[in-house]
Amino acid sequence: MAYNHHEIEEKWQKRWSEDSLYSVDVNKMDEKYYVLVMFPYPSGDRLHMGHWYQYGVMDTWTRYQRMNGKNVFFPMGFDAFGLPAENFAIKHGIHPKESTTKNADYMMTQFKKMGVSYNFDYALDTSKEDYYKWTQWVFLELFKNDLAYKKEAPVNWCTSCQTVLANEQVKDGVCERCESVILQKNLNQWFLKITDYAEPLLANLETLDWPHKTLAMQKHWIGKSIGSEIEFKVDKFDIDFKVFTTRPDTLFGCTYVTFAPEHPKVLEFVSDGQKQEVLDYIEKTKKTSELERLTVDDEKTGVFTGAYAINPINQEKVPIWISDYVLFSYGTGAVMAVPAHDERDFDFAKAFDLPIKQVIVKDDESSLDKAFTGTGLMINSGKFDSMKSTDVKKLITEDLQKQNKGESKINFRLRDWLISRQRYWGAPIPIIHCDDCGPIAVPQEQLPIILPEDVEFKPMGESPLKACDSFMNVKCPKCKKPALREADTLDTFMCSSWYYLRFPNVGNNEQAFEKGITDKMMPVDKYVGGPEHACMHLLYARFINMVMKDLGYTKHIEPFTSLTHQGMILGSDGQKMSKSKGNSVSPDGYVEDYGSDVLRLYLCFGFSYIDGGPWDDSGIRSMAKFVDRVARLLDENKDLLSQKLELDDNYNSDEKKLLYVYNHSLKGVTVDVAKFQFNTSIARVMELYNALNDYLKNVSPDKHNKSLVSYILKNMIIILSPFIPHICEEWWEAIGEKSSVSLETWPTVNEKYLELDEIQMAVMINGKVREQMKVAKDSSDDVVFDKALESKKIQGYLEGMTVIKKIHVKGKLLNLILKKA
Ligand SMILES: [Zn+2]
Ligand SMILES: [Zn+2]
Repeated sequence: MAYNHHEIEEKWQKRWSEDSLYSVDVNKMDEKYYVLVMFPYPSGDRLHMGHWYQYGVMDTWTRYQRMNGKNVFFPMGFDAFGLPAENFAIKHGIHPKESTTKNADYMMTQFKKMGVSYNFDYALDTSKEDYYKWTQWVFLELFKNDLAYKKEAPVNWCTSCQTVLANEQVKDGVCERCESVILQKNLNQWFLKITDYAEPLLANLETLDWPHKTLAMQKHWIGKSIGSEIEFKVDKFDIDFKVFTTRPDTLFGCTYVTFAPEHPKVLEFVSDGQKQEVLDYIEKTKKTSELERLTVDDEKTGVFTGAYAINPINQEKVPIWISDYVLFSYGTGAVMAVPAHDERDFDFAKAFDLPIKQVIVKDDESSLDKAFTGTGLMINSGKFDSMKSTDVKKLITEDLQKQNKGESKINFRLRDWLISRQRYWGAPIPIIHCDDCGPIAVPQEQLPIILPEDVEFKPMGESPLKACDSFMNVKCPKCKKPALREADTLDTFMCSSWYYLRFPNVGNNEQAFEKGITDKMMPVDKYVGGPEHACMHLLYARFINMVMKDLGYTKHIEPFTSLTHQGMILGSDGQKMSKSKGNSVSPDGYVEDYGSDVLRLYLCFGFSYIDGGPWDDSGIRSMAKFVDRVARLLDENKDLLSQKLELDDNYNSDEKKLLYVYNHSLKGVTVDVAKFQFNTSIARVMELYNALNDYLKNVSPDKHNKSLVSYILKNMIIILSPFIPHICEEWWEAIGEKSSVSLETWPTVNEKYLELDEIQMAVMINGKVREQMKVAKDSSDDVVFDKALESKKIQGYLEGMTVIKKIHVKGKLLNLILKKA
């Protein structure tokens, strides 16, 4: 059954589409299984190898779920607004609408060539009016419920993209898109009150089946800390200020106070002598991004203000400094410094020769060569001396509370989400500014506020829409006086924060989503995408979903029950693929040369899905060879396959051995695909192929069990069909089957054949018996080795070691020779 991949892939793609094989109707769906892979940006790169890995391999997983009886809903669309699409358009001098449509169309043909089983009837594009009308509606729901506001604040400004960015979009001090330097600017911007949801966003993480690291990152980003807010006075001024601390028990050890340089109170109390130095330092801080200030481990910098603060617990005078490691937008913008018990304060005190006063001791140690951050007994703390520091935490706060100088407080690291952008290619923010009435929501019947096309769209430092008079000038919906539209657009992360709600409702022109449908189809049962979204999209989507739930539009709290991150396909040199390094490979050429099935099979077999790894051309060639070998085997047995043969239950030892391998392989594939272990799944199918081939060669043809061979070959086509869907359809048709192989039920494992003729076998590590196990008699080397690896004991011995030799004495023992990895 040799095949021409061009012909058969085209043939089956056409057939699937004509037969609407993968179409679903959500209205008729019971017990849905919603699978979603994060949708792509239609930028100039189109679908690259990483996309093929993400989408192609996930299609295999989804096909497998469908064959296992799941009612799969598997939609796809384009995250079409935003910088990637717009930057591409600017670079090529085309209008973003034109280039986005072109790129999306091309990517759609790539998806079809991939042979993916998406529910294309439910495709969406966030830059189309029928979608962004509802993005605007989502924004207005937040605005009307006091969860969206505009205010002047220091924000991250990308010098190259010429727009503000959310904190989450600044990575190590540079723009996550273009890697340009980020400056702090004071600008009037729109924010969403994600901080109102900090507590449930944190608490609900416990309910999610997500990768541990992603949960930890989100937890850290939300950053809850429990402590006390304490009020200090500035000496000789009528100025109070508050500090937040998680260690009120160390208050007696406070030897200085540090303000964020941009804190407005600094200029009220700075001494004349220190003023110039302070002003210079403030200027310098403006050029440093917030993230840089938080993460950089460089030498501490700071300036003395010439003023002193009064510690409320003992009336001691301590100097007030400013330093950029304190952020104005976090906590109160000022911190009490306790160098003896905080590492950062300790470094700062050492650098500027400030006093260090120890107030907690463990045992009798009293000399400090580094900060002691643990708990212990109090010293130098007045009436609290020799009490336990853990008790004093509460007592000091209570003491201060009585004098109205402090209280317990919970603080979050999470800041409100900045969603306005000074860019053209985005959904216009549906707000009208009236001198008399302030910001007014555009009435819903006027949605969508259409993004005008005839606009100079290049970024100029302010919103391009500002220059478009016909767009800007409107009447105030309330008082009817002349007013101006909001000129900023919504960040593209706003579009993607609710798209999973829209998918089952695509085509609904009356509502963003209908409650009945949404309640039935949500949450997404399996969500797949890159780990880089941990503190951006995955956080925003959870927030928007929670708001929609609280407003009564949906009933589920979390949008994505279960999450998996795919790994990254690297260049053959092991480096991240990039055009500049010349190590990137484009999928289109491989599809042309080998076909989309073989490419997909290699992406399944050549990598651990979660980890990814370097590309290897020889890997794809060996996949093509494997497919050819299976095709030959099928061809040689074509007559058998087209006969109707009944299985009996009377097998000789060769047949039992074959049945053992078949069931062992099937069991392996069944378990491993479900766990995203596509590589080991294919290895099991190869084992099966080898066993069948051996049987056919070693047993004389007149003794072949035809019904058994036919049974196994047929099921092999079914098992391979999620991995190489077009080829398997062709094979399936060639053996006389009428319906699609993807409609077949996944074969069931017959445990009976896994137990037969088992023998006891010793597993040795470096010559010592460490484990006993049962294996089928005459098991191959691979089967025995795999079985040994299932043992926890053996896994323990293998940790950190490499197997340099496997000695298998059939029916007796397996000896593994190890050395340190
Ligand atoms: Zn940028
Ligand atoms: Zn008005």
